Amino acid sequence: MKNTVKSINPFNNELLQEYKLFSDQQIAQVLQQTASSFSKWKKEPIDDRAKLLSKVGKLLELQKYKFAKLITQEMGKPLVQSITEVEKCAWVCEFYAVNADDFLCDDLIETEARESFISYDPLGCILAIMPWNFPFWQVLRFAAPTLTAGNTVILKHAANVSGCAMALEQLFEEAGYPKGCFQVIIADHQQVESLIENTIVKAVTLTGSEKAGRHIAAIAGKNLKKTVLELGGNNACIVWEDADLDAHVKTMVNARMLNAGQSCIAAKRFIVVADIYEEFIAKFQQQVQLLHQGDPMDPETDISVLARPDLADIVAQQVTDSVAKGAEVLIGHKKDKAYYAPTILTKVTPDMPVFKEEVFGPVAAIIKAKDREESLALAANTAFGLGTMLFTQDLKAARHCIDQIEDGAFFINEMVKSDPRLPFGGTKASGYGRELSKEGILAFVNKKTVYLH
Ligand code: NAP
Repeated sequence: MKNTVKSINPFNNELLQEYKLFSDQQIAQVLQQTASSFSKWKKEPIDDRAKLLSKVGKLLELQKYKFAKLITQEMGKPLVQSITEVEKCAWVCEFYAVNADDFLCDDLIETEARESFISYDPLGCILAIMPWNFPFWQVLRFAAPTLTAGNTVILKHAANVSGCAMALEQLFEEAGYPKGCFQVIIADHQQVESLIENTIVKAVTLTGSEKAGRHIAAIAGKNLKKTVLELGGNNACIVWEDADLDAHVKTMVNARMLNAGQSCIAAKRFIVVADIYEEFIAKFQQQVQLLHQGDPMDPETDISVLARPDLADIVAQQVTDSVAKGAEVLIGHKKDKAYYAPTILTKVTPDMPVFKEEVFGPVAAIIKAKDREESLALAANTAFGLGTMLFTQDLKAARHCIDQIEDGAFFINEMVKSDPRLPFGGTKASGYGRELSKEGILAFVNKKTVYLH
């Protein structure tokens, strides 16, 4: 049985660090620590909790190059995008530092009582299971509000970004958080399952694949513990015949190729109305070919390797299987270890893996729709529900579509993106619950009804 996990640079295959899995005894200590920290942390005034969070934001800003380098080394994201990720983490900290007090203050509700209101109390220790694709952002967008609401956190990060996990633990320590508020474990899946069953853990959040979501939610459900699930996506990018391609094609390419396509909210299926199909393909291809490929540490690089060689294998297989069903490779579909070339596939139809499954890599699947109505039907033809994009100049018609979109987000003339001020989350196989905004800080609280007669 493996008792270590390795962090390997996917660009040059260099072993960065090997981490020992925690023993069951170490995990028991982490649990004791979180329980004792929670009993004190929940009593800290909200202002003090917010000040510490603000400090985290400042430290992130101050050390962004160091953290960005670590992200890039561990999972291959171009350095410039890693820097943007760390800056966004600083933003989410500042957002909750400023707004937490407002979000968590008692909500008075008039009844026959002398006074009645909702009090927002922390739940206790929340277990976070996180993925590698935005190794700082995914953690901070959950931890910033959750800690500030008075909970404590145990983080089980994806094995290949254990260095980021450790850096995050140090970051909270350096900001002055009491010992045990934010702890990292290096653990295997079996140990995670036992943790969920432990009474000290009150709830679980998971950002990751649908498969992991179903598994973790089943265990949490059996133990009657709340879960927030941020899972995969298969977002459609609908392009109507009146779309302003010159203004938006760069955004559309970015929506697919950012982070080498390894984003849950990436535009994965481009559904293009027939009248603009050829023009769209020409402009999209031209824009993709402008992307600088190379060493992710080079500030000029737009797109580099995927986070692991096995992930590139999966993407290549999905494309190969789609080609066998009639898709045509316009550019790309070349693989070398963790590298998979930016790829454009045309003649994609709903029976192909690149239409039905989440493709977690730089593959744009282009589908022709005969008209607007068919484009909407094709977009909705997915098990996932994170977001839909629509590009058109007809804003009146776009507004009429709002009711038809079953996803957690609908972006018009913009790529789907997260923003601390707006709720974020999915429907259907993309999970449930919301992060960010006021919703995010209320995800793990006891909304207690208080009634004074
Ligand atoms: P993953 O394989 O599901 O892993 C995510 C996390 O879950 C990792 O920490 C992983 O640990 C852990 N995990 C998986 N199975 C587990 C089990 N049976 N028991 C305990 N822990 C388990 O996903 P990934 O490949 O890291 O991330 C890519 C996926 O995340 C994509 O589907 C993407 O769309 C989704 N995602 C969603 C959002 C969103 O906000 N909706 C954001 C980002 C990513 P190990 O590393 O140890 O296996």
